[in-house]
Amino acid sequence: MVRVAEQVLAYCSQCKMDLSATVVAMRGDQVVRVQCRTCRGERAFKAPKGITDPKQAPPPRTTTRGARTETGERPDHSVAAEWRKVLLAHKDRPLNAYSAKAQMAVGDRIAHPTFGEGVVMKQIHPNKAEIIFESDLKVLITGGPRV
Ligand SMILES: [Zn+2]
Repeated sequence: MVRVAEQVLAYCSQCKMDLSATVVAMRGDQVVRVQCRTCRGERAFKAPKGITDPKQAPPPRTTTRGARTETGERPDHSVAAEWRKVLLAHKDRPLNAYSAKAQMAVGDRIAHPTFGEGVVMKQIHPNKAEIIFESDLKVLITGGPRV
């Protein structure tokens, strides 16, 4: 379960992408406010767009006679949960050792000596990539996009 001050993956309306954010406020076990670690802006939590699944949307807040019987399964937006999901989705991709000279493509699995296994989420021009690891979403130097 996520707690205040922990890192989650959230959609930032300022940066217009899914980014690592610090939880500022919770309501029950739902994240309500986060601070984007990229622009430092504090705003209402939005689920990362990349994984938004209507089935995982939080139940409506209207408590009409308590007819809804939730299975108790809540969306888990922690970086580690997202990492597990992404890793599973790309489990068939070859695992390459991370190097600042290695060319990468989105979806590549990367073995990093410190952060462990990760998956390339985004290419950032010209020689950086956003890579999700179990502990955090990192922007690392690469040899550029793999062609
Ligand atoms: Zn931001």
